[in-house]
Amino acid sequence: MSNIEQTLSIIKPDAVERNLENEIKQIFKKNGFSILKEKKIQIEKSEAEKFYKVHETKPFYDDLCSYLSSGPIVAMVLEKKNAVLANRELMGATNPKDAEEGTIRKKYGISIDKNSIHGSDSVENAKIEINFFFNV
Ligand code: UDP
Ligand code: MG
Repeated sequence: MSNIEQTLSIIKPDAVERNLENEIKQIFKKNGFSILKEKKIQIEKSEAEKFYKVHETKPFYDDLCSYLSSGPIVAMVLEKKNAVLANRELMGATNPKDAEEGTIRKKYGISIDKNSIHGSDSVENAKIEINFFFNV
């Protein structure tokens, strides 16, 4: 049975700023992901607040939304078998210090806030997040 899924990935401002866009896309391709859609944009803080609404009660929410809107980002729709989980594994732990060797956050992440990449955490949220960036 095929279990092809789509997930949303975002190359965050710290990685775009360091020109890591192509390197990170290559990692996805090497790991069997197809990049179905992509766009480089800068979003307003109000849009970041909507995107991260699930975190609105967290102490880091305001800084997180300021950060995501602070510079260009690359939003991508990735497709692969079990893409949501496969992408979370390839990204590594939220805090780069805890991320496994070989993961994107281990390789490029600077800190828990500047951790270079976002990935949807469930199939349901992937649909919502893909819609947010690509079906407006
Ligand atoms: N974050 C932060 N401080 C924290 C926890 C999270 O700045 O203590 C940021 C971090 O950039 C993370 C994002 O908030 O990627 C969303 O948090 P989440 O727990 O959803 O982590 P993720 O799904 O990105 O691994
Ligand atoms: Mg998350």
